[in-house]
Amino acid sequence: MDYKYQGIILNKKDIAEVDRIYTIYTQEAGKIRVIGKGVRRPNAKLAGNLEPITAAEIFVAKTKGMGKVTGTIPVNVFINIKSDLDLLNRIFYVFRLIERLIPEQEQDERIFNLIFNYLHEMEKQKKESEKNDVLTFGFLFKLLDALGYRLEAGRCVHCERKLFPENNYFSIARGGVLCQDCAKNEIRRIKVSNEAIKLIRIFLSNKLENFSKLQVSSADVGCLKTVITESVNWLADSPRAFDNLARI
Ligand SMILES: [Zn+2]
Repeated sequence: MDYKYQGIILNKKDIAEVDRIYTIYTQEAGKIRVIGKGVRRPNAKLAGNLEPITAAEIFVAKTKGMGKVTGTIPVNVFINIKSDLDLLNRIFYVFRLIERLIPEQEQDERIFNLIFNYLHEMEKQKKESEKNDVLTFGFLFKLLDALGYRLEAGRCVHCERKLFPENNYFSIARGGVLCQDCAKNEIRRIKVSNEAIKLIRIFLSNKLENFSKLQVSSADVGCLKTVITESVNWLADSPRAFDNLARI
């Protein structure tokens, strides 16, 4: 059987003498892994359009086991990103998280569009690391939301009272921000600034395209990173995390 995918190449891994396995997020089938036969030979035609951070039409032949790439047509090779180490580092950080968080073969067009839009916005950026951080963390909060995990940042996730500007904490086990009183007995908690809470609200209710206009301090970027790291570690290590959260 022959398949055609709209895909974004996330990762590549050398195998055997001249082959590679590619991880690709596709519009049609979610995250898939396919093999590129002979792509490490000098002048292999297929290799160029299968570099990570490339959007392409990908043709795959599959009988049983892993599909084999038979052709590609590039859609966007993101040339600016690939020539900027600062942007590359952020995107590979995001791609590693996608590898950990998203299971294979679960189609979700919203996630495909989100990844594509994120790369499209990063492609427009220059070496302004704060804007790149805001886009990156904004994307990750939206990704968690698309995966069915919407962090509560509007009210205290436990008592549901309005949050005061000071002394709030984040708890991944609770699924959002806790007020000072409710956080007292929480063992696994992280202090969050009022600005970081406001940013999470903005991320969840606005388009990614608007995030590069936001002004954010490096302290708040650090706070967002701690919240994301905590969330990803918890979700990736708890296979039933999504089920548990649905009951809270
Ligand atoms: Zn509370």
